[in-house]
Amino acid sequence: MEKNIRVRFAPSPTGGLHLGGVRTALFNYLFAKKHNGTFVLRVEDTDQTRFVEGAEEYIVDCLNWCGITPDESPQKPGAFGPYRQSERKSSYKQYAEQLIADGHAYYAFDTPEELNAKRAIYPNFLYGQVSRMEMRNSLTLPESEVAQLLAENTPYVVRIKIPENETVSFVDMIRGIVSFDTNLVDDKVLLKADGMPTYHLAVVADDKAMEISHAFRGEEWLPSAPIHILLWKYLGWEDSMPQWAHLPLILKPDGNGKLSKRDGDRLGFPVYAMNWTDPKTGDITKGFKELGFMPEAFVNLLAMLGWNDGTDQEIFSLAELINLFSIERISKAGAKFDFEKAKWYNHEWIKITSAEHLAPTVKNEFNNAGVEISDEVFLLQVINLIKDRCNLLGDFVAQGVYFFAAPADYDVAAVKPKWSPEKAAFFQEFAQNLAAGATALALEEQFKALAEAKGFKPGELMLPLRIMLVGGKFGPGVFDIAVLLGVGETQNRIEKGIAAFN
Ligand code: GLU
Repeated sequence: MEKNIRVRFAPSPTGGLHLGGVRTALFNYLFAKKHNGTFVLRVEDTDQTRFVEGAEEYIVDCLNWCGITPDESPQKPGAFGPYRQSERKSSYKQYAEQLIADGHAYYAFDTPEELNAKRAIYPNFLYGQVSRMEMRNSLTLPESEVAQLLAENTPYVVRIKIPENETVSFVDMIRGIVSFDTNLVDDKVLLKADGMPTYHLAVVADDKAMEISHAFRGEEWLPSAPIHILLWKYLGWEDSMPQWAHLPLILKPDGNGKLSKRDGDRLGFPVYAMNWTDPKTGDITKGFKELGFMPEAFVNLLAMLGWNDGTDQEIFSLAELINLFSIERISKAGAKFDFEKAKWYNHEWIKITSAEHLAPTVKNEFNNAGVEISDEVFLLQVINLIKDRCNLLGDFVAQGVYFFAAPADYDVAAVKPKWSPEKAAFFQEFAQNLAAGATALALEEQFKALAEAKGFKPGELMLPLRIMLVGGKFGPGVFDIAVLLGVGETQNRIEKGIAAFN
């Protein structure tokens, strides 16, 4: 029988969630949903020194915002809990001891001072095959001394004993066969002096305990894979080892290398999913959500960083992504992040999303800008008229504020040089003849007919009209704006405009 599909997103709660992390979560989620599997959130908080207050809640919020909510998590435990590694602390020691008993790990009693002394002599010092026999550990000390040190509760760590001259190979679902020379791998710590496992031991023990079938994670974890593969083997669990998929890196837009938060700061775009507030300093790091991205667009653009469906299609809903997702179409090469392209995705999503769906967020944007919206139907009409012009959700305010308040300032300079008493008279007459219920097209015809009758080219009057209604040289069709504003308001604005230009 094929085993159940169970995947996990296993972040460490150390701060804001990088878009690469969200993409890892997304690919786990897509794979699980495509195969009727289970998507698990496991919080890897074994490194107490890096733990950051509030980071777990923040990660959960980010996943919820993206619509990729875990089936099992600390907040929604299933049958494999607890879902925080710190709460599973007592489960790991037995595995470290089993590895020691089987000769695959050892106690190391070296003090931090001793290790630092070695590092001072050898800057690239690695605790491993060559150096381990010069250190104070259960491979070098007599058995009786080891027993005594343990009996005296001397602090120790447990290290894996990496074998010499072996090749560790595994099949990565994206990369094919990947091999490592064990002579290049050091004896990583498995259990720390405080009794906490390190990531290496915990990730293996928990993937086993939680019956994880497939492990999607970033390429930056590839160097750790040989350690994990050896642990699966040494613990006698090879048959239940998950299938691995190391996702391509998300690269900085310029140059080589992984996209970092620093690149975002340098180039002026966010790399976190949502705003992150550092609990110690109160510093806020901007996120895509607060910058005005729709979650649908964010998820879509992340999916396209390293995956495509084999056609030119670029816009996909989450449901379509689930349907079309395939590991074969994940690329091995890193994907360059392009912020302009990211905004393009958002723009496309705003265009195809209904005004009804956009309305609550847009209303919020207006409220935050100090514009109260009371007429919901009017808001929907405004959204429909301007959404094609918006890249970010906040753009609705700049693009539509004049629908809710007459312009306070006019771009007078754009009109004044060519303004004349005749033009003022034209606008007076046009305003007087406005009739309720006219369509934008009817209004335009009326405007053109009057312009011609007065000896003007309609074109030279359009800009003044726009500036009277909007304040500046922007916005959708000017007659559409007039229709939406209604006769009374259009007349008022024309009156005020004339006064400003005269
Ligand atoms: N805790 C690791 C992280 O922070 C998880 C890596 C893995 O998925 O094995 O990304």
